[in-house]
Amino acid sequence: MIESALPDPRIVEITLNGATVTAHADATILDVCREQDVDVPTMCFLETLSPFNSCRLCVVEVAESRTLVPSCSRTVEGGMEITTESERITDARRILYEFYASTVDLSLADAETKNWMSKYDVNPDRFGKYKPHRTVKIQDDLYIRDYDKCVMCYRCVAACGPDAQNTFAIDVAGRGLSSTISTEYDVTLPDSACVYCGNCIGVCPTGALMFKSEYDMREAGTWDEDRQSITTTICSFCGVGCNLELHVQDNRVVKVTSPIDHDVTDGHLCIKGRFGYAYLQDEK
Ligand code: SF4
Ligand code: SF4
Repeated sequence: MIESALPDPRIVEITLNGATVTAHADATILDVCREQDVDVPTMCFLETLSPFNSCRLCVVEVAESRTLVPSCSRTVEGGMEITTESERITDARRILYEFYASTVDLSLADAETKNWMSKYDVNPDRFGKYKPHRTVKIQDDLYIRDYDKCVMCYRCVAACGPDAQNTFAIDVAGRGLSSTISTEYDVTLPDSACVYCGNCIGVCPTGALMFKSEYDMREAGTWDEDRQSITTTICSFCGVGCNLELHVQDNRVVKVTSPIDHDVTDGHLCIKGRFGYAYLQDEK
């Protein structure tokens, strides 16, 4: 085979924080940042879902671009000059976190969000103290929805829809600050198209969607992650081979997840793997 002497048009050269790096032309700016160990905050982005570009926390500067650019969804172009940390970027990210903190209960947000808020010295009360204004939706024994904790990242909608489950039981309803994730016509979950795979819970970054088991234990003050162990096993309900992570506290399974980097599941499960563990511990 004769090798072409021409350069590969799929490989481009860009400048990232002053350093010249090469990248595949299909890569996003965030992909390249992660390859190069450059930290960029994200909230709506998850590597197993299509970028939705709603939180805007991953913005970076691109030379000659008037506005900041969302790195999760902008692909690189040859000659691009990218800066990931500057006063302008810090101000934009800090104010976004402050908007979120004034309107949403971030008390159970993931560690990444809390770490970035601390790094940017976010004042959560700057735009007014967050006030609870929605009641928790408890409609079955499997999971609860607390939309006071929802940042409208749309991850659950993508996981329920085209990126994993293809059930399309939930979507966004309403506008502006009144918008929320909802079943169609806001029917209860048991009356909706939901098949209780729990994939929406698995991708939620703020605890807005939570296993009922976890919710009940938190309410009772008995939830204690320091006393929990995680055992990885393979689901025995069928032959697909999904990896399960059994979260165990006091010798009882308290919830089940799947590793996001498992090539069979991408972190997603069905109702049997996710919730079918009662037989292990004499529950109904
Ligand atoms: S449990 Fe599954 S089907 Fe039900 S809303 Fe969540 S992702 Fe959709
Ligand atoms: S419920 Fe969770 S996953 Fe869904 S949009 Fe809100 S924060 Fe995101």
